[in-house]
Amino acid sequence: MEFESDITIIGAGPAGSTAAYLLTKSGFRVIIIDKSVFPRDKLCGGLITKKTINLLERVYGEKEELLKEKSIINFYTNKFYFLNKEKILKNGSNKIPTYFVERTVYDKYLLEKAVSSGAKFIYDEEVKKIEFNSNIITTSKGNKIQSRYIIGADGANSFLRKEFERLGILENKYWLNNLGFALETFLDKDKLPFDKDTMYLYFGYIKTGYIWIFPKKEKAVIGIGGLLNKLDAKDMKKILTNFLISLRIDEKTVGTCIKNIKGHHIPFGNYIFNPVYNNTILIGDAAGLVNPLTGEGIYYAQRSAELVADAINKDYLNKGKLEEEYLKNINLYVMPELLKMLKIRSLYFNIFNNYFLGKLLMFLMFRKIS
Ligand SMILES: Cc1cc2nc3c(=O)[nH]c(=O)nc-3n(C[C@H](O)[C@H](O)[C@H](O)COP(=O)(O)OP(=O)(O)OC[C@H]3O[C@@H](n4cnc5c(N)ncnc54)[C@H](O)[C@@H]3O)c2cc1C
Repeated sequence: MEFESDITIIGAGPAGSTAAYLLTKSGFRVIIIDKSVFPRDKLCGGLITKKTINLLERVYGEKEELLKEKSIINFYTNKFYFLNKEKILKNGSNKIPTYFVERTVYDKYLLEKAVSSGAKFIYDEEVKKIEFNSNIITTSKGNKIQSRYIIGADGANSFLRKEFERLGILENKYWLNNLGFALETFLDKDKLPFDKDTMYLYFGYIKTGYIWIFPKKEKAVIGIGGLLNKLDAKDMKKILTNFLISLRIDEKTVGTCIKNIKGHHIPFGNYIFNPVYNNTILIGDAAGLVNPLTGEGIYYAQRSAELVADAINKDYLNKGKLEEEYLKNINLYVMPELLKMLKIRSLYFNIFNNYFLGKLLMFLMFRKIS
């Protein structure tokens, strides 16, 4: 079967669905295609910060209270602990809460917004081929879609990014250099032997990364993530396993937790500085847009979607401007923050991995913001 659209978006995660919503609102015919059936899960801590709440209000006009009412925000807390292994660096209560979402619910919510604004959703079909000159993609079911623009919002292991590499538009070396990895599991939060409504970040377990315990309404998500450095995914799993055992939770729960550990790549400073080729653009994880200190990626996925929608609108009116407009946007609104984080990352982790320096830095930081 052949389809035609103005815009084809590969991937219905936060990046793809947000772009689909904004572009259909602008009057484009949009097809969004995902290899999964929704609701689908995505391995993720689900932490979102206030700037994502502001983005949701800006894009969808839905305020924090409504998102809580609809259970899009699954849980939020002001309470936090920062630790170096088992020693407390800082604990307390922030003025601004940290919010948590369940990705099955969150991604479905964003996709429904896109579909109800007019985007056509094709699911359970993987994009397998792209012809850059004619802007035609072919799916696993043999369907072909031709469009004016193609957006690659297909995540950390992006098919489209690999096609850029195959053509020599991008080099794989830099991507692999700063590619991170993260592992996660979960448990019923009542099983935690300490305050279950608090967010915990543990440093000192890996060189460039951390372990987290994120509270949700009913469960707690426990994970480890960062640069692999000289570790491999198996070493990371071992560190997480030992950490779980050290929590003094009952043996059966720990056993189930360990059995449920899953891993996924996470971009961790491997940005693609020019993710545009002809009328094809990468956004979100596919373009490496994740905070290289905290691992926050949901915000940047949705922010890059806003910026690509703006660039496509401008290119449509004034042809040949896509690359210029998108790069202008991303270099103004996203990259400065991410590059700053990349610069200070090794310094921060060196400090947090040292108990006394970590304590001092926390003292200086929280004097200002809590
Ligand atoms: C363990 C872990 C914990 C994390 N925790 C957090 C956190 O707490 N907070 C935070 O902000 N970020 C977190 N992140 C990062 C966050 O998950 C990502 O940054 C975010 O999901 C990026 O969104 P996206 O839309 O770019 O890609 P994704 O959410 O990965 O969506 C990509 C979509 O593309 C589809 N797809 C892929 N290839 C194809 C293809 N060829 N054809 C069709 N469809 C395709 C996939 O099925 C998927 O639905 C975490 C990541 C990991 C691995």
